[in-house]
Amino acid sequence: MEKIRYFKYFYSNKWHDPDTKTWFDSENPSTGDVWAKVPDCGITDIENAVKAAKMAFYEGSWGKLMPAERGRYLRRIGDVISKNASRIGKIETTDNGKLPKQITPSLKEGAWLLDSWYYYAGMCDKFEGRLIPAEMPNMHNYMNWEPFGVVAQILPWNSPIGTLIWKLAPCLAAGNTVVLKPSEQASCSILELMDILLKADLPPGVLNVVTGYGPSTGEPLIDHPDVRMVSFTGGKNGGQAAAKIASKQTKPIVMELGGKSPHIVLPDADLDLAVNGVASGIFPAGGQSCISGSRLLIHKSIIEKFTEKLVELVKKAIVGDPLDPKTQIGPIANKNHYEKILKNISSAVEAGHKLILDGRMECRDKGYYIGPTIFKDVPNSSSLAQNEIFGPVVSTESWDEEYDAIEKANDTIYGLAAGIWSSDTTKAMRIADKIEAGTVYINNYFNAATQSPVGGFKQSGYGRENGWEGMRCFMQTKSVWLSTNPSQADPFA
Ligand code: NAD
Repeated sequence: MEKIRYFKYFYSNKWHDPDTKTWFDSENPSTGDVWAKVPDCGITDIENAVKAAKMAFYEGSWGKLMPAERGRYLRRIGDVISKNASRIGKIETTDNGKLPKQITPSLKEGAWLLDSWYYYAGMCDKFEGRLIPAEMPNMHNYMNWEPFGVVAQILPWNSPIGTLIWKLAPCLAAGNTVVLKPSEQASCSILELMDILLKADLPPGVLNVVTGYGPSTGEPLIDHPDVRMVSFTGGKNGGQAAAKIASKQTKPIVMELGGKSPHIVLPDADLDLAVNGVASGIFPAGGQSCISGSRLLIHKSIIEKFTEKLVELVKKAIVGDPLDPKTQIGPIANKNHYEKILKNISSAVEAGHKLILDGRMECRDKGYYIGPTIFKDVPNSSSLAQNEIFGPVVSTESWDEEYDAIEKANDTIYGLAAGIWSSDTTKAMRIADKIEAGTVYINNYFNAATQSPVGGFKQSGYGRENGWEGMRCFMQTKSVWLSTNPSQADPFA
């Protein structure tokens, strides 16, 4: 067995043991074995990291850089990450079981995720101020874009590096400094990235990482008075707790939360296209993606055929060790979540829902494996159809009239994404207009681009990531009034 690796936490471009002198375990989900120990950071550690970020913003060179100079740093970060893509991918696979092919290629030159660094590098000097034509003689009013200062960024476990890049690149491009808190379930690829980014020569304190649990590390970080803004990606409950803390000091917070995304399959859909698209939109990542399409709303005339084809297709999927090149679906990322998914499946069976493909057949003695799981005829009002399981579990339900499909699709507290499958584009666009979700896919699913803003409607969150909007969230405007009138009337004359 390999030696257990001890990590430190990171601030001012240096590694530090936690003041708490405690570490927690990180398990490899493909075996269940502990492979690393991660610092359990407490108040003093948070204080150190925030202080470093504050110094870098107010006193160090970062806060004084011209926007174009920040762009050069971002390009360098992109270059360094692409050279180390495999190193990052390997550690993320060990930490959360994601397949290397789901990480490493996205960090190589030409991949859209890596391109985020170059996109935002170019955008650093494109946020132009404006002269405002206020209706006042002898007055110049202009507005500028400014960063917030120290930003806390809180990450989930399902895709640490991906979710990090979505928020970190625009945040640095905007001129902020950052304290990151990765998930307690998957911190190691983020810590490894800090080591890699030392080669990008960022000034000390621009980027800092504290590790630990939500309540004991995340909450005091958000609550720190020198943290001026928060960007949170995670579940609804964690997000609501974070927003409550942030609201005490009226801190802006961007929230990228969960979903229960529907697919509407119309009777005229190309069935092979739709089946492949629906399956790709949930199962390869083991359902552990925020936009997983887990509620299938299929027209009653095709539901039998569609479901039959779907089961046929996903039964073939190879579930197993993420390091085996033949594997198509890796393990569930951690024990806690694995047990939660199994409990959800059992509860659905107990509630009387028809299980037509049981992924529990893939469970093993070691490691956290669950295969594709499909339930049939699940009413949209049931807890199976309403609650985010965040695992390889889908429910199907039929519909008759278009308005019924739209109503069911929108009948959820979430609004992250939706898929529509139809050969009639006009009809599909008409439905898309009525869907309450931040992203709607027509005859495709799961695509994303650094240029295209993503985010939630309803309880899936607010604020946006990617695109111009993604950077705008990390900036505030300042309005400056300059009078060219040398006199000011006496207010008491
Ligand atoms: P989670 O909410 O449990 O944890 C997310 C992060 O928040 C972790 O770092 C955690 O330590 C921290 N946290 C939890 N409680 C906190 C608190 N009270 N104060 C401060 N920080 C706290 O979520 P998770 O289980 O890690 O991730 C899965 C969830 O993330 C799913 O719901 C998924 O849909 C969502 N997600 C959303 C997106 C998106 O872009 N919308 C992307 C990925 C994942």
